[in-house]
Amino acid sequence: MSQPEVFSFQAEISQLMSLIINTFYSNKEVFLRELVSNASDALDKIRYEALTDPSKLDTEKELYIRITPDKENKILSIRDTGIGMTKADLVNNLGTIAKSGTKAFMEALASGADISMIGQFGVGFYSAYLVAEKVQVISKHNDDEQYIWESAAGGSFTITRDTVNPPLGRGTEMRLFMKEDQLEYLEEKRIKDIIKKHSEFIGYPIQLAVEKETEREVEDDEEEVTEEAKIQEVEDEDETKEKKKKTIKEKTIENEELNKTKPLWTRNPEDITNEEYATFYKSLTNDWGDHLAVKHFAIEGQLEFRAILFVPGRAPFDMFETKKKRNNIKLYVRRVFIMDDCEDLIPEWLSFIKGIVDSEDLPLNISREMLQQNKILKVIKKNLVKKCLEMFAEIAEDKENFNKFYENFAKNIKLGIHEDAQNRNKLAELLRYHSTKSGDEMTSLKDYVTRMPEKQKNIYYITGESRSAVENSPFIEVLKKKGFEVLFMVDPIDEYAVTQLKEYDGKKLISVTKEGLELEEDEDEKAAREAEEKAYESLCSQIKDILGDKVEKVIISNRISETPCVLVTGAFGWSANMERIMKAQALRDTSMSSYMASKKILELNPRNAIIKSLKSKVEADKNDKTVKDLTMLMYETALLTSGFSLDDPAIFANRINRMIKLGLSIDEDEEDAPVDEVPALESTEDAEESHMEDVD
Ligand code: ADP
Ligand code: MG
Repeated sequence: MSQPEVFSFQAEISQLMSLIINTFYSNKEVFLRELVSNASDALDKIRYEALTDPSKLDTEKELYIRITPDKENKILSIRDTGIGMTKADLVNNLGTIAKSGTKAFMEALASGADISMIGQFGVGFYSAYLVAEKVQVISKHNDDEQYIWESAAGGSFTITRDTVNPPLGRGTEMRLFMKEDQLEYLEEKRIKDIIKKHSEFIGYPIQLAVEKETEREVEDDEEEVTEEAKIQEVEDEDETKEKKKKTIKEKTIENEELNKTKPLWTRNPEDITNEEYATFYKSLTNDWGDHLAVKHFAIEGQLEFRAILFVPGRAPFDMFETKKKRNNIKLYVRRVFIMDDCEDLIPEWLSFIKGIVDSEDLPLNISREMLQQNKILKVIKKNLVKKCLEMFAEIAEDKENFNKFYENFAKNIKLGIHEDAQNRNKLAELLRYHSTKSGDEMTSLKDYVTRMPEKQKNIYYITGESRSAVENSPFIEVLKKKGFEVLFMVDPIDEYAVTQLKEYDGKKLISVTKEGLELEEDEDEKAAREAEEKAYESLCSQIKDILGDKVEKVIISNRISETPCVLVTGAFGWSANMERIMKAQALRDTSMSSYMASKKILELNPRNAIIKSLKSKVEADKNDKTVKDLTMLMYETALLTSGFSLDDPAIFANRINRMIKLGLSIDEDEEDAPVDEVPALESTEDAEESHMEDVD
């Protein structure tokens, strides 16, 4: 006998196991789905390896999953002839290496998630402990000996060279030593129901070992009696016969196949119910919820393939995790599973789509490297994108469904706009934004266009950190007055998407925070603006002198009506919002950031009392000391309201504090802290004056 080696479970896994064992859940049957799903994955792996090296199947030619209930010993066994696990696999995969899903799943449970979601988090194996007090995993991989993994939870497991069980050839047997109150899962009927419900569409035969009693007639004098057979003597009714006969009842084990349905995608879509799609979706994805939409189609002609594509009901917990595998489409070739992580099958922005593709044309023994260059695959990919877009357009027909879709996958659509030039226009139809006119609902670009006043030529948008930040932004003051709707783009990815999109329906998408905003104006408005520009020329140049390199230029604004001034950015550089995003991501390489970083232009509002008063001060005395201090304060305030951050908040705070002192009539001399050479602020008289001007 080999000696067992003891291992400790990684802490989080141990915690998860206690949670599974000690918390009350009624929905325990999911354990079988998880173990069958693991068996199916293991079979996929060996079948794929065998495509390039058929000898790998020599250890066991038949590919199947077999469930054997042993009522006498209260053991449920699930075995597969899949790839199996080496000793190292057993140690790593079943207990010592934590997955990100372990913690995420516990958190999800704590906030009300159901245990049946376990598979999505990549820890489905541990669901065995819902029904078993002890689990043995016996496994044989082609590259190693047969080993037994065993644990009754409690923080540790053992691994032992298997010298006691019959050799598996290849694959894995899960032996669940059932809890006393979970014996229902040893009942044939219960097992059949669960498999039908959760695992009908598994691509390998799932056999249930059932006991059958068969009757056989034998001559009386025959001694052919097997050990287990129960013998019954029966009077033969046919009394004309001379010899007495005996009927023997024998118990035999038969393997009954539970999932005889042919692959769903090979069937005619018209004959498939939504329930069947739902079951198929769940068995394909381990998702607990329903799919949101499905597209089942066949492409024929030059190239032939069938596919079923699903939009999930919700985004997975780790959708934008970068290390995650990038696609969820299973690739089959003539009904044979090839792989489920072929990156060239669907673009990254569609990585949330789940489904299967079954090609008639690809070679069976295709390798990953070959797939990358493959022309057939490129055509398949193009078709999948097309069908996805059709599916999204169909979802958009139902508002409630579309809202769900958008809530979960808007980021993907925007990523699509950024990446997929060809389909940009179609994707733009799917965009929805809150706006100055949309109220609680979101608006499509199409609806926006129908609301445009006749003289409005462009589509206006503002980007920012949050809806409330942009809703009250000074940048949209004039547009609101003019009745021009402004879209609120508050998702970081909007910045990327909108710079690629550029226009919709022949109308330019214009950022209201960038340089050169040409608001549609009539003759009178134009004349008034030009007059103002002239009148404020000298103030602009004076302020530019004070601010120096801080701003590119100082001009009169056409976009603000209340605020004294705003800072706009260059038409082709980053917006303030983009600068914030790039800083947060810290992925700027410095050369890029100095090149792209916002060139700021200060725009003044000539109708604002502060600006007016500044103008008269400068006109009266070009070197007025207070002008400099006030200008700096205005500039720093504009940084904040325009969505930038302050380079030096302390100096800003100093200036504000001085204002406060002025407001409270505290004498500068009372304070001993030194003040830099910034001159004192103006007397309160002026402030009152400005205020009165403001009112009229
Ligand atoms: P997931 O299936 O999402 O990876 P599980 O907790 O269900 O998570 O399984 C953990 C790992 O254990 C699997 O990734 C696989 O490597 C291994 N495993 C589980 N069951 C089997 C099996 N029947 N045959 C081979 N490997 C298995
Ligand atoms: Mg699993």
